[in-house]
Amino acid sequence: MVREIVHDPMFLQRKSEDATQADLQTAQDLLDTLRANFDRCVGMAANMIGVAKRIIAINDNGKYLVMFNPEIISKFGEFETEEGCLSLDGERKTVRYKTIKVKYFNENFKQIKRSFSDFTAQIIQHEIDHCNGILI
Ligand SMILES: [Zn+2]
Repeated sequence: MVREIVHDPMFLQRKSEDATQADLQTAQDLLDTLRANFDRCVGMAANMIGVAKRIIAINDNGKYLVMFNPEIISKFGEFETEEGCLSLDGERKTVRYKTIKVKYFNENFKQIKRSFSDFTAQIIQHEIDHCNGILI
């Protein structure tokens, strides 16, 4: 189900809780909402649709990917950039890493470790920040 985007900074600055298999419907709603906003958004965290659980969905060059409880386990290639956010107005400066290795659970709650680079890595870093209550 496509949900409304949350803009309330007080809510968005709260740290999200660990997700479980009971949150699969939230992940589906997150995917539906991301797809509905494909023209202006490449990633979303569950708190952006009002659910403070650690779930993110990204559009990885047209392939949609959901991660439960994602964690960055290594990173390198620091750079400064500017980003926008569907929940905020305008673009803001931030620091990101070119390559990251992420540990997460997939929809079957199988643990995955995978490396990402460039724009996809940047999207994931932005969405993991959302899980931690960090806004750019
Ligand atoms: Zn955002």
